[in-house]
Amino acid sequence: MTSQIIIHSSNEPKPHFVLVPMMAQGHMIPMLDFAVFLAHHGSLVTVITTPLNASRNRATINSARDSGISIRFVELAFPCKELGLPEGCENIDIVPSAELMKNFFEGLSLLAEPVEKYLREQEPYPNCMVTDFCHHWTQKVADNLQIPRLTFFSICCFTLLCTHNISHYKVYDRITDEHEPFDVPGLSQKIVVTKDQAPAGFFVEPGWEEFAKKVEKAELAADGIVVNTFNDLELQHIKNYQIAMGKKVWAVGPFFLHNKNLSNMSMRGNKASIDINKCLTWLDSKEPRSVVYVNFGSLTFVEARRLIEIGLGLESSNHPFIWVIKEHEISPEVEGWLSEGFEERVKSRSLLIKGWAPQVLILSHPAVGGFMTHCGWNSTLEGISTGVPMITWPHFADQFLNERMVVDVLKIGVSVGVKKRGMWVDSKEVLANREDVRKAVKRLMDGGEAAEGIRQRATEVGRKARDAMKEGGSSYDSMTSFIHYFSVEGRTDDEGQV
Ligand code: UDP
Repeated sequence: MTSQIIIHSSNEPKPHFVLVPMMAQGHMIPMLDFAVFLAHHGSLVTVITTPLNASRNRATINSARDSGISIRFVELAFPCKELGLPEGCENIDIVPSAELMKNFFEGLSLLAEPVEKYLREQEPYPNCMVTDFCHHWTQKVADNLQIPRLTFFSICCFTLLCTHNISHYKVYDRITDEHEPFDVPGLSQKIVVTKDQAPAGFFVEPGWEEFAKKVEKAELAADGIVVNTFNDLELQHIKNYQIAMGKKVWAVGPFFLHNKNLSNMSMRGNKASIDINKCLTWLDSKEPRSVVYVNFGSLTFVEARRLIEIGLGLESSNHPFIWVIKEHEISPEVEGWLSEGFEERVKSRSLLIKGWAPQVLILSHPAVGGFMTHCGWNSTLEGISTGVPMITWPHFADQFLNERMVVDVLKIGVSVGVKKRGMWVDSKEVLANREDVRKAVKRLMDGGEAAEGIRQRATEVGRKARDAMKEGGSSYDSMTSFIHYFSVEGRTDDEGQV
């Protein structure tokens, strides 16, 4: 692949990319980071979203506009009423039930007509669409507009490849017990999972077959794949996934590292529920690498009994911690437990954030020495990029495979030891208790040879992530080639080849 910078004179039109993020924090946030990176790299970018999602990301949008880059944000109405959804239900984190989740996903394709109409009228005409894998309908829009479309994943290639291989080798035709461990086929390393942990796709529940087929069809038709990862993290997985899919994989992440403005990062995804200065002052008062930061992302719902076990495990570990609890997790039972002793007992060494945390800001602070995460890929990549080793507690979707990436492949984390899914299943099990949490925290935070090895590898991989995004780094250069390839007149055969 050639590395080339394209410089646009002021009167030369910039290549125009249209991005359509999925309306979920873990999809929207990385695509906005990608949009800003793409625009800073010399493109015109149009991001299509809905009013609620735009308002949550207002800080990013305003700062992108103020920085003078060529970026447009288009807010289209999402027809909630037509879909039987409550007014303003424009993000999957506020869909009130599993049944309505189906309405939400199926309703996405109602955006096709307004999006196509809007894009047809644009000047300059779009060169290319990059759209979330959930938006299968965008393939038809791109075909109608006669422009290429790429599928966007904020998931690592290791997990994408494992998921592909499990399906390709028909592993689940011979597995009857969903908790039976098996080796993922087609990998150079032994990776053991169960069917419960690693479904052969993202839409495998009964009733989602049609939707899954549409997503797969759009993936096969796409002109390439954009992934939030980087070569030095997983070159072999990138290459193998590329071969498996028969199309070019553009590894141009971690996108968020492009943004060097930490105060801007503090508003990323939503308004923080804590005063940023209070948070930083608290962190400043702690020893380097002494704090455990606990956050399970935007979608995971931690039930009261599990939540209390986490709190008691953190308390008995004796390490300082920042613990993020979502507002809707604070049931009367949790509220009572927090206020009747727990908060008082741990107040000298803890900071509780009830709501949205400025995650990247926290992870970037030198006092943070461990990240207890649900292993959503964005959080995982944020841990990787800031060099913070992880304590893993996956819950669902791609998270168990991401845990294997952290613990078995990269060896930059320890597992709490959760074996079963904890979301979208009817389970009353606690899954891990206070002792499991305490032990995992101490294994990472108490020092010793094994923990030191983990810490050193985490530091090293963090450095590689930052290098990848610097001028001359692999992701930076791939982004240059990407833009060049899709700005029609610059297209050369060798760049887009598998
Ligand atoms: N996030 C955040 N503050 C929070 C919770 C989440 O900034 O309190 C961000 C986090 O930094 C990440 C994204 O939301 O960029 C969550 O994506 P991820 O893939 O980790 O998990 P998901 O929410 O999709 O399960």
